[in-house]
Parts: sequence; C-alpha cells; structure tokens
Amino acid sequence: MASKFQAPRGTFDVLPAAARQRAAVEATARAIFARAGYESIQTPSFEDTDLFERGVGRSTDIVRKEMFTFEDKGERSLTLRPEGTAPICRAYLEHGMHKLAQPVKLSYVGPFFRHERPQAGRYRQFHQLGLECIGTDSPLADAEAIMLLSDLLGELGVPGVELRIGSLGSFAARQDYLEVLKAHLRKHEGDLSSDVRERIDVNPLRAFDADDPGTQGVMASAPTIVDHLEGEDAEHFDEVKALLEAAGIDYVVDKTLVRGLDYYTRTIFSFVCDALGAQSEIGGGGRYDGLIEQLGGPATPAVGWAAGIERILLALDEEIEAEGRDAFVAIADPDQRQRAMALTVEMRHAGLAAEVDLAGRGLKGQLKHADRIGARHVVILEADGTAQLRDMQTGEQRPADTANLVDEMTGGEA
Ligand code: AMP
Repeated sequence: MASKFQAPRGTFDVLPAAARQRAAVEATARAIFARAGYESIQTPSFEDTDLFERGVGRSTDIVRKEMFTFEDKGERSLTLRPEGTAPICRAYLEHGMHKLAQPVKLSYVGPFFRHERPQAGRYRQFHQLGLECIGTDSPLADAEAIMLLSDLLGELGVPGVELRIGSLGSFAARQDYLEVLKAHLRKHEGDLSSDVRERIDVNPLRAFDADDPGTQGVMASAPTIVDHLEGEDAEHFDEVKALLEAAGIDYVVDKTLVRGLDYYTRTIFSFVCDALGAQSEIGGGGRYDGLIEQLGGPATPAVGWAAGIERILLALDEEIEAEGRDAFVAIADPDQRQRAMALTVEMRHAGLAAEVDLAGRGLKGQLKHADRIGARHVVILEADGTAQLRDMQTGEQRPADTANLVDEMTGGEA
C-alpha cells in the first residue's frame, strides 16, 4: 500500500538504477578533477544567510526568491546552500588558504537547494559538481576551467553541447557600461516587464535574460558589454579565446550572455544542450575576481564553474546495468544456515560479490532469485553437509569442496 507521504515538492528519490548512473558520472568527474590537481572540498549544507546575500548578491533571483532560509534555536538566520562558490570562498578565508601557494584548486560534488518552480531539469534539491581555481587572474586558469568541463561532457558523451562565452569586464570597467545600459533601458521603459523595470538600477544586466517578448525586443538593440571591453579586459578575453582555439575547443561568443549570480567579472561561460528543452544549460560559470574581497578577504581573483548532475543525466538518458554477483549461496536445508552465512562472508572477504538467501525461499525459488540478480555461480549447501557448485551460464552442476571453493572461484588468487 502506498503511504500518504511523498518526497517534498521539487525533490526526488534516487533509486538504485538511477544511483548507478549518478555514481558513474561522479566517478568520471572525480577522475578528471584529480588528473588536473583539483582536490576535493566539502562544506556544510547550510551557511549564514548573510554569506549568500553578500556573495550571490541581494538583487539576484536566487537571494530574492529562491533561498530556503530558516532560523535556528539560537535565532541565527541560516540558509540551505543555493550554490557552492560563496561557501568555498568562505572556507578559503576561514582556513587561511590565501597563505598557501596560489592558486588553490578545489572541486566538489553535492546537493544544493533553490526554491524554484519545479519542472523537468529544475528541482528544489539538485546536485552540482564543480571546481574553483582561486588566487590567479591568468587567462590560462579560465581556459583550463572551461576545458575541464568540456572534457567532462565529452568523456561522458553528452550529445549536442554548445559552449557560449562572454566577458563582463572588470568590476570597475563595468560601471561605465552599466550606465550606458541603464540609459538604454530607461529610454524603452514602457516596453519592459515590470520585473526588469523595477531592477533597472540594481541589476540591469538581468534584462538580457528576460523571457518576455517586450524586454527581449528592447534588448535586441541594447549595447553589449563585449563591445565595450577595453584594455586589459579585452586582452584577457582575447587570450582566453586564443587558448580555447589552440586546444581545439569550439565556442561561440554570446554578447548577451549573463549569469544569475552577481559575483562574476570578466569571463563567463555556459554549456548548453538543446535536447534539454527549456532548462538547456548543463553547466556554467566564470571569473569572480571581487567575491573574496566582498566577503572580507584580500583581493583575490578566481574562476570556477558548476554543472547540474540531473541535467547531465537527462541529456545522457542512458541506463547502466547492475553488476552481476560472483556467487549466490543457496540453503537446501535450514540446518545449513550457519555454514551458508560463514561461506558467504568468507567469499566477500576474499573480494567476491556474494549473496546468501535471506528470504527463506525453497531451493527452486533461491535458484530463480540467483538468476534474477545475475549470479554466475550458485553454491548449494545440502542437508548432508555436501555442496554442489552450479554454473548459471551453462547450467552445469558438480559436487564441490567448500573448503576450497573460494580458491577455486578466485582462481587461487585470494
Ligand atoms: P548556477 O549555479 O545557477 O550557475 O547553475 C549551474 C548549473 O546547476 C546549471 O547549469 C544547472 O545545470 C544546475 N542547476 C541550477 N539550478 C538548478 C535547479 N534548480 N535544478 C537542477 N539543476 C540546476
């Protein structure tokens, strides 16, 4: 009977078949991170609310509408983390990592929380894997970050991926551009959505992301920041592009690219996969040279990205078969239960994948079950203490000496 309880709206259970796919994606990512020297970091699932307000930005949708914020018993305001970069920067400062040799290269995998309207590819608890390269403004770091996400999607075989890149310029340079953009928005105020109109002063860049036709019309003729890049900002962007070209990575420059977090400066990028429909972004990120200072640390340039594991899985739409077992120990007589347990444990300690009947099935039922779980061998413990070894592929069955069984099945290597 189904229970009256269900997983909360926007969340889901990961059942074993799906867990296999996830594990494979995570293993590929971890191997790529390790090969490039991005060591793993884990931060708590919740942080001070202020960290995200300051880090992600008060004018962003994430902070304005999407945070799971609660008060703890000590009346502290806490928030389930909506993203990973601000917490990692907090940890970087808290643990004095700015005193280590720079850059500090970190990677992570874990759950994140946003109170969004659920739909395919958009959940309230979702999982990201990502990396951060903190403590260098070199364009090589931007290019390396992009290449690693490109490698990951390539190695996993995600089809139809397009890389879009842009640059927001440095924070200072951006201020001039933002005035030009605000003037453009004000000139066409009447055609903008109310949401965009209200945020002309606090977050004009988000107008590029709007989905209402009125705002989109206004933005089609808007000045772009990429066209306004000058000096070192322009050189930085050119070098990132040259490095990608040298590495044979295809990209398109998207002059209207913006991201939902306030902390980005200079390079931003997004990997999209059209097969995903409305939520087409698989992963993205960029440079955030001002964030660590914003959090109270020394001026520290950094770059990073995050990719959504659920989106990767949706795009792959692949099934991974369960691994079979080496052996199933069948109990033909209840008196053999202790022996069966001992033999199963012995096999496991020798590195074999072995199961024993836990359900009190009859022998026929046990053989059927062994077949269902893909056991290659079944050891049948008979009432008189003898044993039979059955090869499930050939159906061949022969008497077996349980004292030597593990040796026999591991080819004497155990
Ligand atoms: P962001 O942290 O907003 O830059 O998002 C990085 C990646 O996380 C996106 O490209 C998505 O793949 C994934 N993502 C963000 N929000 C959600 C969500 N609500 N549900 C599922 N995946 C998400």
